[in-house]
Amino acid sequence: MTTTPVIPVMKPWLDEAEATAAAEVVSSGWLAQGPRVAEFESAFAAHVGAGHGVAVSSCTTALHLALHLLGIGPGDEVVVPSFSFIATANCVVYVGGTPVFADVEADDGNLSVRTVEPLLTERTRAIVVVDQGGMPADVEPLRALCDSRGIALVEDSACAAGSRYRGAPVGAGAFLAAWSFHPRKLLTTGEGGMLTTSDEQVAERARRQREHGMSVSAAARHQSRQPVLESYLEVGFNFRMTDIQAAVGLVQLAKLDEMVRRRRVLATGYQAMLADVPGLRTVQDPAWGESNFQSFWVELDSGFPLSRNEMLKALAAEGVSARAGIMAAHRQPAYAGHQHGDLSTTERLTDHTLILPVFHTMTEAEQEVVVDVIRRAAGLKAA
Ligand SMILES: *Cc1c(COP(=O)(O)O)cnc(C)c1O
Repeated sequence: MTTTPVIPVMKPWLDEAEATAAAEVVSSGWLAQGPRVAEFESAFAAHVGAGHGVAVSSCTTALHLALHLLGIGPGDEVVVPSFSFIATANCVVYVGGTPVFADVEADDGNLSVRTVEPLLTERTRAIVVVDQGGMPADVEPLRALCDSRGIALVEDSACAAGSRYRGAPVGAGAFLAAWSFHPRKLLTTGEGGMLTTSDEQVAERARRQREHGMSVSAAARHQSRQPVLESYLEVGFNFRMTDIQAAVGLVQLAKLDEMVRRRRVLATGYQAMLADVPGLRTVQDPAWGESNFQSFWVELDSGFPLSRNEMLKALAAEGVSARAGIMAAHRQPAYAGHQHGDLSTTERLTDHTLILPVFHTMTEAEQEVVVDVIRRAAGLKAA
């Protein structure tokens, strides 16, 4: 009896080097936020063209910190896409604000001025734009809209490390951008995140606020030969990353460009081999940038013989672990009864897209298995 090998939807690219880097930190005796975190912050910020990096425990805490730093609270509205992982909306609730769900564009799955502008009120304090699945959002028109209204733009770039926007890395020059290093993204530290900012004072306060609002960091206090008395300037959080995570992150960061290159080759392969499938649309780079293809999704319409869920089942039966498309937060029980306007594109994409396997070590043969199941379902020959 043969067992069908399972092709995962995602697999982090980890080698001995990450294990060695983590072991070195353990041997050093300093495991908590310290020199490796500081090094990882500068290296990551430089890589994405951000002025300053503040490492935190996850992208969720980075978003929470961003909205906290903006002083958002009860009575304030923040426009977010429903078409996103639920943390994008939750971070608004954490600070006592009200998320207002905006629809997305069908091509890139992201917010646009068209979908956001009608929702702005005198209570709107910020917009959180997501680079969904690594697909760069068109942030320049949104930045201009925010500037003209005196509100903040927060970029949820959780999935987008290594994506490019108008010739620069996504996040370059962003006032506030949040990143995730969860294993479902490209660069992973197990759990972990980063807040990047163009503003030095915001970075300084973020560093304090991720560490209980302490005037002196624990690492600086430890290094001092004099007794240091810290004070607690504001009520802060414990959102720290560990040096173990940062050491892994530094190794991963050095591999990021190679990860993106490989994923883009695999994405191009899917686009070519699925181009003639009727009723199927593959995600494409937008005019303004290049995706890292953290998620490679396809949309099935009525011209395709199977429903999305039937297609997922057929893939699973052949050992291919695909996923239903990005969730819609407004449909989750956590947001039941929450008011929202038209979210028809969000609902269409959530119901009719699926995410295909893409991972660094994926072979051509594995990709052909995936393509083959889809082509056979559509009644076509192998590509
Ligand atoms: C993964 C993800 C998050 C949450 O990241 P964590 O690091 O797991 O907290 C937030 N927003 C988006 C768009 C994501 O994809």
